[in-house]
Amino acid sequence: MTDDPAIFARAADEPAALPPVLPSAASAHADADRLLLLEAVFHHCPTAIMITDRASRIVAVNPGFERLTGFSADEALGRTPALLKSGRHDAGFYRGMWQTLLDQGAWQGEIWDRRKDGTLYPKWLSITALRTGPDRQISHFVAAFNDLTVSKLAEERIRALAYHDPLTGLPNRLLLHDRLRCALANARRGRGTLAVLFLDLDHFKYVNDSLGHAVGDRLLAEIARRLKDCVREVDTVARVGGDEFVIVLENLHERADAVAIVNKIHAAFAPPIDIDGRELHASASLGIALYPEDGDDAETLMRNADTAMYQAKAAGRDTYQFFAPFMNEHVRERLDLENTLRHALERGEFELHYQPIVDLRNDLVVGAEALIRWRRRGDALVAPDRFIPIAEETGFIVEIGDWVMRRACQDYVAWRAQGIAPQRLSINVSPRQFRQPGFAGRIRAILRDSGVEAPELELEVTESALMQQPELAARILGELKAMGVGIAIDDFGTGYSSLAYLKIFPIDKLKIDRSFVRDILSDNSDREITQAVIALSHNLGLNVVAEGVENDGQLDFLRAHGCDCVQGYYHARPMPAPDYAEYARRRRVA
Ligand code: C2E
Ligand code: MG
Ligand code: MG
Repeated sequence: MTDDPAIFARAADEPAALPPVLPSAASAHADADRLLLLEAVFHHCPTAIMITDRASRIVAVNPGFERLTGFSADEALGRTPALLKSGRHDAGFYRGMWQTLLDQGAWQGEIWDRRKDGTLYPKWLSITALRTGPDRQISHFVAAFNDLTVSKLAEERIRALAYHDPLTGLPNRLLLHDRLRCALANARRGRGTLAVLFLDLDHFKYVNDSLGHAVGDRLLAEIARRLKDCVREVDTVARVGGDEFVIVLENLHERADAVAIVNKIHAAFAPPIDIDGRELHASASLGIALYPEDGDDAETLMRNADTAMYQAKAAGRDTYQFFAPFMNEHVRERLDLENTLRHALERGEFELHYQPIVDLRNDLVVGAEALIRWRRRGDALVAPDRFIPIAEETGFIVEIGDWVMRRACQDYVAWRAQGIAPQRLSINVSPRQFRQPGFAGRIRAILRDSGVEAPELELEVTESALMQQPELAARILGELKAMGVGIAIDDFGTGYSSLAYLKIFPIDKLKIDRSFVRDILSDNSDREITQAVIALSHNLGLNVVAEGVENDGQLDFLRAHGCDCVQGYYHARPMPAPDYAEYARRRRVA
């Protein structure tokens, strides 16, 4: 166990401290029995046992020793335990071991040794000093040891599992926090700045929903691989959620260094990902927070990078944003909107305004579009563009949509009784609402309850709502059509703008987005597009409505090119139901 006879010599002079370990037998007979028993235990014990004399020469080993070390008893006897040394521990380690052994009579701990075949292995070793002689001096040392290789491997595996994401092999949130804390400590010691990047895949849910989780998993694994290729050895790429990754960039000199890596990441997303011959295109939104300006602890940096990522999403996805303090303001505002929106319905804070739709051929009001308003906490009105997207994301839109539908139908029935109802009532339907299972059935129930006839109702859906899952959309539209409900494509021109594709859907009307109408007099291409859309729609047998008509010039242009109907401030702004009734009474309705 040692190569140092000097230490051993000192051990030999130590006063007796421990009682003899081997029993002293009372009778010769019992003695012999006991020895046989001990012999058998020594022989069969699965633990490796090695006994040396006080000069550290091996005097006995058991089969467990032979199995573990690879040395036979013949090869080991007479040698010193240096036979097993791995070379992994320095002289100080062995000195410490001896010191304890001599002071306390025993030592135990983990130690690396070498087998006969040269392989190294960790073992758990217990050494006991025996004082069996009459002088109570140390006479032998007994070393018992077990191989730790298997449990070490298990331990490593457990550690790997606890700190890594099994799908991608990337560090998980736990390890990320460790790494980030170390990186921050380095940065504080003046070794450059660091950046935390929060990355969220765009539309990953669609991949999972439409192609299945197995495809989603492979996509994630490939993205993880590409991300790792974009960063340096010192940087960390971690997966912290389904489609969320966090990247820690260390030793940056300036903000531009982070931008360079972000550009690299964007470029890495460009080549399509091939999964079983299917080409998938992935993109990501990224938020960046820098140390020290955006936070000096891990939590703040992570939170701010996340906030910046949300801004990148809001800015249209597939882009990146550096954190800026105003973003916290936006996040607070959004959270506030979300929280108050939750209760808006039960507090009766919604109102419907109506805007007339006028037929250009006879100047009659042929329709009214219901437009929702939110009187938040009883004060100023919140415009739908600010809260509909939140309602859509949170799912509140389904209940809100039902409310709109029921209220609008009630108003319409009341106007009909007064003889001022237009031919059609137009109601906006958001994508989530439209795809909600049982949508057509809900419409049927609302029509039945309110007494509105199906042909009196027209639903406005956007192209993007139809294009996300065209087959599903076509089926829902088919059901509505069969009931006799009219369908209009809203905001045409802002989405896919594919008239050919629209042919597969049973629609009646197309509403040209107000962004084209706005510049129709000054912008050549807007004029040409509008003209073409009107002509093509008529070819397809569709009715055309121009939105956002504000002046005579626009009106004249649209009339000259055969547009069927217009809607806009020129005729009237959206107004509360009583005002609309007043308006309708003054105008002729059809
Ligand atoms: P939209 O369906 O395209 O509605 C037309 C929008 O254009 C309305 O904005 C209307 O006030 C505005 N507008 C009408 N004439 C003019 C004009 O001459 N000039 C200008 N600059 N604007 C004009 P609003 O009411 O703010 O609604 C915005 C959007 O919110 C709607 O666009 C619709 O997509 C959505 N929305 C409104 N109400 C509902 C609803 O009840 N349910 C759902 N899902 N979405 C709704
Ligand atoms: Mg609309
Ligand atoms: Mg519109």
